[in-house]
Amino acid sequence: MKVHITVDMEGIAGLAHEDQADMKGLDFQRMRELLTSEVQAAVEGAKEGGANKIVICDAHDTGRNLILEELDEDVVVIEGGGYELGMMTGISKGFDAAFQIGYHSMRDTHAGTIGHTYSYSCSKLRLNGTTVGESGLSAAIAGHFGVPVALVSGDLHAVREARKLLKNIVGVPTKEGVGVYACKTLTPGKACGLIRKGAKDALGRVDKLRPYVVKKPVSMEVSFVRVVMAQYCSHIPLVKRIDDRTVVYKAKDMVDAFRVFEIMQMVAHSAGADGAL
Ligand SMILES: [Zn+2]
Repeated sequence: MKVHITVDMEGIAGLAHEDQADMKGLDFQRMRELLTSEVQAAVEGAKEGGANKIVICDAHDTGRNLILEELDEDVVVIEGGGYELGMMTGISKGFDAAFQIGYHSMRDTHAGTIGHTYSYSCSKLRLNGTTVGESGLSAAIAGHFGVPVALVSGDLHAVREARKLLKNIVGVPTKEGVGVYACKTLTPGKACGLIRKGAKDALGRVDKLRPYVVKKPVSMEVSFVRVVMAQYCSHIPLVKRIDDRTVVYKAKDMVDAFRVFEIMQMVAHSAGADGAL
C-alpha cells in the first residue's frame, strides 16, 4: 500500500503558541523533535497496517522541520518550500491513502489553537460554497488525484473539522485547543502511541473511504483579514472582487485553484506589508 503523509506543526501535542512553531523561536528545536516523533509513529503504524511505500511532505512554514535521521530509512521525504502542490506535494494517482499529521483548525475557530487557513492573511476559503481549512484543502487536492484521507491527527478542533467533510476517517486528537494560544494537551508519548494505532487502523478501513472530490469547475472564494489584501488580489487576471474583503476565482480543477490560491497569499502578504491600513 502507498501512503502520502502531509505534516504541519501547529497541531502537534504540546504546542500552544506560534512562537514555538517559528524556526527562530527558542522552543523550535524541541518542537521539531516532537513533530518528528509523531511522524515516525505514523510511519510505524502505517507499516503495521500494510504500507510499503511512504512519501512524507514536510509542509509547515519553510518545509524544513523534520529531523530526517530520526525517521525510518525507507521513507521518501519532500523538504523545502515553494512546492508545486503546497502541503500536498508528492501526491499523485496511485496512492491508497493520505494522512494529515500536526493539523490545526481553520481561522476563526472558537478555541482552536493557532487556528488559521494557510496564512495569517486569509480569513476564509470556500470551495464551491463549502468553507474549508487546511485539512479540507489538502483533502481536496488528494481527492483530485483520487486519493482518500484516512487519518487526521492534531487539534481536536481540526479533527472535528475534518470529520464534517470526510466520512470514515480515523481522527487522533493530540490536544484540545481551549483558546488561540492555549491547549489541553496529551503528553508526547501518549500522542505518539495513539497516532501509531490510528495509522494502523486507518489503513484497515481504506475500503470504506472515498476521496473528497470537489466538482469542476471549482468556484474558489477567498476572504482576507484586511481590505487592501482583497484589493491587490483583484488585480490578478481572472480574479474578481465580490465584497470588501473577498475575491473569487473560477478554477478548472483543484490544482488550478490551489496555484491561484498560493499566488493570492503572496500578493496579500505584499499588500499587508504596503502600509498600516
Ligand atoms: Zn498550517
